[in-house]
Amino acid sequence: MNNKKIKRIVIVGGGTSGWMTAAGLISLLPKGKDAYDITLIESDQIGTVGVGEATIPPLRAFNNEIGINESEFMKKTGATFKLGIEFHNWKSKGEYYFHPFGQYGRRIDGVPFHQYWMRAKQNGNTTKLGEYSLCEVMAREKKFLPCNTDPKSVLSTTGYSYHMDAGLYAKFLREFSEKKGVVRVEGKVMDVKLRETDGYIESLQLESSKVIEGDLFIDCSGFRGLLIEEALKTGYEDWSHYLPCDSALAVPSESVGSTRPYTMSTAHAAGWQWRIPLQHRTGNGHVYCSKFMSQDEASSILLANVEGKPLGDPRPLQFTTGRRKKFWNKNCVAIGLAAGFMEPLESTSIHLVQESIAQLINLLPGEEFNQAEIDQFNNMAARDYELIRDFLILHYHVNEREEDFWKQCRKMEIPPSLRQRIDLYKNCGRLFIEGENLFRLDSWLAVLHGQGIMSDSYDPMTEGKDQTQVAKFLDNIHGSFIKATDAMPTHDQYIARHCKANF
Ligand SMILES: Cc1cc2nc3c(=O)[nH]c(=O)nc-3n(C[C@H](O)[C@H](O)[C@H](O)COP(=O)(O)OP(=O)(O)OC[C@H]3O[C@@H](n4cnc5c(N)ncnc54)[C@H](O)[C@@H]3O)c2cc1C
Repeated sequence: MNNKKIKRIVIVGGGTSGWMTAAGLISLLPKGKDAYDITLIESDQIGTVGVGEATIPPLRAFNNEIGINESEFMKKTGATFKLGIEFHNWKSKGEYYFHPFGQYGRRIDGVPFHQYWMRAKQNGNTTKLGEYSLCEVMAREKKFLPCNTDPKSVLSTTGYSYHMDAGLYAKFLREFSEKKGVVRVEGKVMDVKLRETDGYIESLQLESSKVIEGDLFIDCSGFRGLLIEEALKTGYEDWSHYLPCDSALAVPSESVGSTRPYTMSTAHAAGWQWRIPLQHRTGNGHVYCSKFMSQDEASSILLANVEGKPLGDPRPLQFTTGRRKKFWNKNCVAIGLAAGFMEPLESTSIHLVQESIAQLINLLPGEEFNQAEIDQFNNMAARDYELIRDFLILHYHVNEREEDFWKQCRKMEIPPSLRQRIDLYKNCGRLFIEGENLFRLDSWLAVLHGQGIMSDSYDPMTEGKDQTQVAKFLDNIHGSFIKATDAMPTHDQYIARHCKANF
């Protein structure tokens, strides 16, 4: 397209979302005479939020699509592999479950695996669901091999993602983007000038008095939402009635022992704690609800449950769970914390950044902004946020813990869509996942089952196989997973061979 009016893209913010956006756009938008001018403004003085270390499998596709080599990425960000999340004490104290990134078993005659397992269980089988997830079996043994797409290989039933140092990832993406032509401007934005005729953003004025003009502005300025909220007054939808945690404390610690290929999430009296293993340190944090716990208490609990020596004092962060009423308003698109926030229980924030970049590219305006395209972007982003929100609420709402915080979570109203999913599962273990849902059947199953929801019966379609056939089928799957795992390198060995960081 020649003569295009929308050519100058200005990104405000150089955290994970700013640099992911810059890297995504410079790599995937047209080049040559149709290339876009992409400028990123960031302020070292303000800094970034500095957390965000656990990710989910789609990040592999993002890195791949923009041409990032996995081994180089892992070396530069001190990354480790992640096969899923181990949840401790969520249903009740002393209990745990694993949310794997892969699938459970295999379907037979189109019927999901767990239906056969539930039938076997009702007939006296005592095996655990997790024994039929290769990711979980590997995680227990701290083994690792990447998944593949060969349906004959057991590894095709697995999936993986990364734990990474978010600061190093932003630095890595900065180098990558600058080499490809993104112009970085260091400076603090002090004023946002709106066009008198229609209220669109015209330019940004920096502390140095420099003025930066643009056509499309991307707000990656973090929680404050410098453009989308402070300048455009877009409004925020508060979801703290569903997800009441509003505070976090984060502290890194020295690594201890061999590296787990999974995130740990441990529930406490009024929230939960993450433990994220990197190659060079462990990331820890305590997410909690300030109505039920003071910062001092939250800090003591965090430090009492850190494995290695803490590398500093816990750093406090406050947040309001929810989302902007519009993600795209006039000529401004909010991405990252500027767009909204949900706690990192399922490591979804960076994924939402990636999803916004993809949809922005799909709906990139040509010569002028089109309201139907803006609405489409907003509807898709709202749907993404709501699906994740429902999944997170499930972890809190279904519990058997005794503390007041957990009792309140049990009593709270939940979205009708989630209520319907729980009721459906309770009856016959059935799960239907809409096309665009980030969390597939196995993820919902892991958490529904892990949080203690038992279904009353199983799918009658499993009756097509007799009990002996089902028992043999289960044995074969578990046996093949044990055999495959025995032959794998440990997670640490795999990293040492393929992607060891040298810092
Ligand atoms: C406690 C906690 C734990 C988290 N854990 C995870 C996790 O495990 N996994 C996950 O996916 N996500 C996680 N997240 C979310 C994740 O941290 C963010 O999604 C990610 O870091 C992106 O942040 P950001 O770039 O939008 O904002 P920020 O990192 O806050 O960056 C904002 C940028 O804007 C710049 N800026 C602001 N104002 C101005 C100005 N006036 N002029 C110029 N520049 C300005 C700043 O300098 C900075 O560069 C977590 C978040 C929190 C709060």
